[in-house]
Amino acid sequence: MTLLDSADTDLAPLEFAVTRNLAAKSAAQREEILANPGFGTSFTDHMVDICWSAGGGWHRPRVQPYGPIALDPAAAVLHYGQEIFEGIKAYRHADGSVHTFRPDQNGLRLQRSARRLALPELPVSYFVQSLRELVAVDGAWVPSGADQSLYLRPFMFAKEAFLGVRPAKKVAYYVIASPAGAYFTGGVKPVSIWLSEDYARAGKGGTGAAKTGGNYASSLLPQSEAYDSGCDQVVFLDQDGNVEELGGMNVIFVHKDGTIVTPQSDSILEGITRDSILQLARDRGHTVESRPVTLAEWRDGVASGDIVEVFACGTAAVVTPIGVLKGKDFLDEQPIGELALSLREELTDIQYGRRDDKHGWLVRLDA
Ligand SMILES: *Cc1c(COP(=O)(O)O)cnc(C)c1O
Repeated sequence: MTLLDSADTDLAPLEFAVTRNLAAKSAAQREEILANPGFGTSFTDHMVDICWSAGGGWHRPRVQPYGPIALDPAAAVLHYGQEIFEGIKAYRHADGSVHTFRPDQNGLRLQRSARRLALPELPVSYFVQSLRELVAVDGAWVPSGADQSLYLRPFMFAKEAFLGVRPAKKVAYYVIASPAGAYFTGGVKPVSIWLSEDYARAGKGGTGAAKTGGNYASSLLPQSEAYDSGCDQVVFLDQDGNVEELGGMNVIFVHKDGTIVTPQSDSILEGITRDSILQLARDRGHTVESRPVTLAEWRDGVASGDIVEVFACGTAAVVTPIGVLKGKDFLDEQPIGELALSLREELTDIQYGRRDDKHGWLVRLDA
């Protein structure tokens, strides 16, 4: 059983008005896309949207054909970035049923992000319902290949046309969906990480713990620096110089004695993948610590052999071993162990229904 936020379990479900897409892809076109979906480039035939206004609250829930959104050029989001989003996947099980993973957690996180960005809090039950409504019309888009999924992208933004600076009084919430292929083709491959010494993605008291586009905007230049330095991803330090996270994934260290450590900082986005991986590790008897980790602790730990594995985790790639940490004047090869991949397998086995869901994390979407 997944417990929804107690405050909104009593809410009546919304009545969505459904407008079918008359130009929906044919089954053959869809199958062609699903055969090789990539990531984030193809979208399903429909989208969900719900309006919010300061006077009227949440209203006009709709499922409508996927397509461009008309915005006033003065819409606040275009100027001040008042925007938040989520990322969650729908998985097809062997019996054809469609499930998602801990959607209540994504719904609660969307509420936390909303509070920080002065946006309205969507009730968790509406959030989960919005995923169901989209899967009800676009369920055929949930692929069935190995490690494939339908990536769901809920997002919310300030659409009020107003150039004054204050929280918008008109907001839109949408959900779009994009079929996603296996993140790693030909086996999971360790990534190389560039240490961003000149740039931060977030600051103290800033928006680092909220899932908001601005954090990504500020990570793009350091990410280019990473590419220019021959690295795949960038890792940030927080304002105290402690290890924070990658641009979109959390970091986990495995110590020789089996202790698992993940950085704690106010500017870290709390990943649901990380939380789940840590729970699975606890179930296996590992001690789990969430505390500040200095860069020196990381580098010295690897040098002394006390740290035996470092990996990153997030919904898109699930778990990715880190193979190299590179800075302006150093390059540390990272030890590669077995735990990251074994936890990855356990987690994906649960998500795809191949293993007992002991924690009640799965929620069926197509029934
Ligand atoms: C979404 C996100 C993560 C990972 O969160 P999951 O819930 O595991 O997908 C990590 N860091 C940032 C900055 C993110 O936006």
